[in-house]
Amino acid sequence: MADDATDGPNPEDDAVETDPPTDASTRIDPADAFDALGDGTRLAIVETLAAHRRENWAWSGLSFSELRKAVGVRDAGRFNYHLDQLLDTFVVDDDGEYVLTTAGMEVAGAIRAGTYTERRRFRTSTDRSCPGCGAEIEVAYRHGTLLLTCPEHGVIFGNSLPGGAVADREPTELLALADMKARRDTERARRGACVHCWGTVTATMPAEPPDGEESEQVLARLACEDCGMVFRVPAAACVVDHPAVVSFHYERGVDIRDQSYLDMGFLTGENGEVVSEDPVRVRVDVELDGDRLTVLLDESTAVVSVDEP
Ligand SMILES: [Zn+2]
Ligand SMILES: [Zn+2]
Repeated sequence: MADDATDGPNPEDDAVETDPPTDASTRIDPADAFDALGDGTRLAIVETLAAHRRENWAWSGLSFSELRKAVGVRDAGRFNYHLDQLLDTFVVDDDGEYVLTTAGMEVAGAIRAGTYTERRRFRTSTDRSCPGCGAEIEVAYRHGTLLLTCPEHGVIFGNSLPGGAVADREPTELLALADMKARRDTERARRGACVHCWGTVTATMPAEPPDGEESEQVLARLACEDCGMVFRVPAAACVVDHPAVVSFHYERGVDIRDQSYLDMGFLTGENGEVVSEDPVRVRVDVELDGDRLTVLLDESTAVVSVDEP
């Protein structure tokens, strides 16, 4: 409408005032962003605003005076200087209310989790045995990586987890955490989002094992187009969350959502077979209580058909 083209105030403008036009996107130097965090007062501002957001899981912040008081800085000029360093990257001024951005929340969460600060290292036995040979599985943690290892087979699977995540958790809880992380990471990558940078992931199957390694299973390769991160999972791991597989277990009294990868017999051995090259079809058998469910996947790891018993 012609009225919209006038310069006069439009009551609807208020609603979109905080939304910048699409061409307002900018990118700052990562070194400058990290530089802004290199000060105790500024980290205290981030933590104070994060504490506020944790209590009010919504877009909400504190006024200048509330924030200055909470952080405990008397000199308003000095406080303003530090707050200014964080503005538009970790904190935004939303009409006089200082609100933590997603970047600020991520920094606060990583500090809580000990991502940058914990230097934990340990090795502990578990009450679980290796599905391949029956030897007792050990959990080892070092350099931010949690590894499940078998004395015979080496690493069964591993996962990156911050030090805070593994502090004060029993070996069984560590196993559950490693499982949950591996399953979530696999599903997120299969759905197209990189677990490292949120870039676009493409899945291809069958894939060669990493250089110098062998695999008796058919592997899928999940590769990020943006950062180049590549990881491989067995074809069988791609059916774990499929509704047919979940209900096949549920009907037999097993909630597979609560199960460890170590409990899923169909993940071990030689399960997974390329039954057709063009189009690619990979067959995975899921067996339980003498019954068998057969799942066919395509080259992108999508399930194309299910044969119920
Ligand atoms: Zn073993
Ligand atoms: Zn990536």
